[in-house]
Amino acid sequence: MKFTLRTRLALLYGALVALTTGGFAVVAYYTVSNELYANLDASLVRAGSSLLAVIEREQDEAKQPLAPVKKNRRKESGEDVFAFLQRSSLRDFVGPIPVPDSVIDQPQDPVWTAVYEHVLLNSSTYLLQVRSPSGEVVWRSDNLLTDSLPRLESVLPMGPGSADRMTTWISIRGTSYRLTVVKDARAEVAAAYPVAEVDFMLRRLFSLLLYSIPFLIVVSIGAGWFLARRALRPVDHIAKAARRITAERLSERLPAPVSNDEIGRLTDILNDMIARLERSFEQVRQFTADASHELKTPLAILMGEIEVALRDPKINDDARITLESCLEEVVRLTHVVQGLLDLSRAESGQLQLEHKPVNITSMLDDLCEDIGILAERKSITVTSSIQRGLMVSGDSVRLHQAILNVLENALKYTNPSGSVDVKLYAEFSNVHLKVTDTGIGIEPHLLSKIYDRFYRVDQARSQDIQGTGLGLSIVRWIIEMHGGTITAESTVNVGTTFTITLPRSV
Ligand code: ADP
Repeated sequence: MKFTLRTRLALLYGALVALTTGGFAVVAYYTVSNELYANLDASLVRAGSSLLAVIEREQDEAKQPLAPVKKNRRKESGEDVFAFLQRSSLRDFVGPIPVPDSVIDQPQDPVWTAVYEHVLLNSSTYLLQVRSPSGEVVWRSDNLLTDSLPRLESVLPMGPGSADRMTTWISIRGTSYRLTVVKDARAEVAAAYPVAEVDFMLRRLFSLLLYSIPFLIVVSIGAGWFLARRALRPVDHIAKAARRITAERLSERLPAPVSNDEIGRLTDILNDMIARLERSFEQVRQFTADASHELKTPLAILMGEIEVALRDPKINDDARITLESCLEEVVRLTHVVQGLLDLSRAESGQLQLEHKPVNITSMLDDLCEDIGILAERKSITVTSSIQRGLMVSGDSVRLHQAILNVLENALKYTNPSGSVDVKLYAEFSNVHLKVTDTGIGIEPHLLSKIYDRFYRVDQARSQDIQGTGLGLSIVRWIIEMHGGTITAESTVNVGTTFTITLPRSV
């Protein structure tokens, strides 16, 4: 599939936006995810460390040695070193809960301190558990029910004693938790928090990115297309102007650039190129005109002399045949030279056409009569239907030349016993002339070339038929100079119809 430059630029722009926003989304997602988990981890470490600090403070005040509580008898553990945990709620210990900086990685942030205190003191979702140094569970938050959080040594990847705290993932009753276990000489505190909230936030962020990125891409493709269209508009203008400049209109130039940017420079370069082309065309035109002019006289002399020689009854048959063949070639050459001279004069504007009323009806009557002789020789039937009294404005000599050429072609390219039909009629403000033959026809893809100079369809096919390949170039020029058109429709081995349309004058 071929895309315009505009579409390709827009798609490229969209692809770049997709790539950058996609990259940004991945980085943003992972940064936010890491940040959220890092904050949760820091909060868990603070919670555990704070509880250790409370235990230390309470035990120092009580000056009692450590002793474990019996399993499942948290409320009855009475006078042991952790008894204070059963006596009061956590809220009673605080004012505020001491936070030892030594065990916290990040500097104390008042916001996070407030957050974790809130969480710690309202621990409906927070799971907390205190073990004695020997590993006995001495206290756990009510929401843990009968479950226990694992010991530090069981979650340390390098084995017991390799660190005094660890953060990891655990699953309790089908719910995922982030768990931190901190330990010192007096106790081991485990704190866990469900990750559902973090996951919920991450899911929301994910859907936001998922829906906003395609939207952004669509918007950027639209914007890219619009920008490309604006940026390429001057190029469109140049292309349109350049298309108007044909070989016949090489004196025209592209509109002067408004700015000295890339487009301005491109316009300058193209204008320079057109100027060079114009000079070359002019030189070729001049050369053709000069050469044809120079050839005209010697050819005329040659033709005259051959004709004189042929009139001599003393020449033998062989010499006569040779002279006749020479005369044929000289006549052909004279036609070529005349055709070239006409075309070069026409292109350089030296050939001025008259603009007088021309009775095209009587012109066609005469022409049909003239070609009748040639048609008879080839046993070709000529039929005509000519509307009376049609007038056009123009040069009768040149119009005669053009129509005769088309009629002669119809006879030339039609085999003996074929037929040629001529129709002349008016339609709206135009006069149409249709010349239809039952000849050899032209392949449809070659129809546009027959007006090129020296172009003859299939040389092998036409070699027996005399011609220069210049006739239709001159015909088209004459018709166009009269504000008309010439078109052809053809089917090989069936026939061809040439239609000349001229503006009607009354
Ligand atoms: P030529 O002198 O060769 O006839 P033209 O310019 O008049 O040159 O025509 C160009 C070519 O177009 C011819 O060589 C011929 O191949 C083709 N052509 C023109 N008229 C007809 C026609 N009526 N039927 C078939 N081919 C035609």
